[in-house]
Amino acid sequence: MTATKEFGFELIARDGAARRGRLTTAHGAVNTPAFMPVGTAGTVKGLLPEQVAATGAEIVLANTYHLMLRPGAERVAALGGLHLFMHWPGPILTDSGGFQVMSLTKLRELGERGVRFRSHVDGSLHDLTPERAVEIQHLLDADITMVLDECTPFPASEPEAESSMQLSMRWAARCKDAFKRRPGYGLFGIVQGSVYAALRQDSARALQEIGFDGYAVGGLAIGEGQETTFAVLDATLPGLPAERPRYLMGVGKPDDIVGAVRRGVDMFDCVLPTRSGRTGQAFTRRATINLRNARHKDDPRPLDPDCACPACRSYSRAYLHHLVRAGEMLGPILLTLHNLHYYQELMAGLRDAIESGRLADFAAGFERQQAEGDLSPT
Ligand SMILES: [Zn+2]
Repeated sequence: MTATKEFGFELIARDGAARRGRLTTAHGAVNTPAFMPVGTAGTVKGLLPEQVAATGAEIVLANTYHLMLRPGAERVAALGGLHLFMHWPGPILTDSGGFQVMSLTKLRELGERGVRFRSHVDGSLHDLTPERAVEIQHLLDADITMVLDECTPFPASEPEAESSMQLSMRWAARCKDAFKRRPGYGLFGIVQGSVYAALRQDSARALQEIGFDGYAVGGLAIGEGQETTFAVLDATLPGLPAERPRYLMGVGKPDDIVGAVRRGVDMFDCVLPTRSGRTGQAFTRRATINLRNARHKDDPRPLDPDCACPACRSYSRAYLHHLVRAGEMLGPILLTLHNLHYYQELMAGLRDAIESGRLADFAAGFERQQAEGDLSPT
């Protein structure tokens, strides 16, 4: 991948509210709408980086929280940064660590300064402030740094959501001050405000006053349901600048992604395709399939006859069922490969549909196929 000089975002086509764009970073370009596989601890579990790239992924996400605790951000920096360390030469986005601090650690004190917590690995005490979150992501050499925010729990009352969002906005300003501008590297703000449209709009405005290279929508996909997620996007996205990328954090299922792309989201990440692959679940054009199920035991057909991934090209459902039931490590590897392939083909289909102005047809076809359900048993 060739190095580019400036961090940027170019809009190539639109179809309704949906956008087809290209993000340029220090470590290469990303076609949007894009799905970022999650490489929690500096690895997309079970796959070689070359295999991740072969699914069509152009950018991966890594988790600041996990990497700061183990092996440590300073160590990764001394070893040449995360791209070299994990052998992923393409763009990397890191989260701020805030979400995992809130969800994985028990002992934590949250205040104006930041959050103090105990490591879930060894119980050691750590401080994560907006300044330190930015510094860690710089040490990791992330192409896209995310601001530290407080992930407002769901449900939250409007006053709770407002004070939490305001804290996140003050932290966002401190992150902007702490961020060292370098060509090809960007800093994204995160819109908060729970399910309250007015708070989301206030948050979007506050972030633009600070000024970011991209805008994420956070605090969703935490139990509010798809209808509410979409309502929040409808209230938020029109208030974000058209010329900057928009990233919906932690979403989601294939139909969540199709709906969010139609509303104007450019970037996604989610553990679903990888985590589901490790528990025997496969996403296909027609259904979500559980390979543990006995109906696949004697089935010589591929998982998804229209998929060109290694799992579908060379193996039967019966074999995948056997691997999953026997606890063989190749099972999760093949299913993770397939699931990431499926997600990336979905994104490629969405990009083509936006470019040719037929996104509504594409979405209707997607829904029709999903409604058909899995192939009939043999
Ligand atoms: Zn496949």
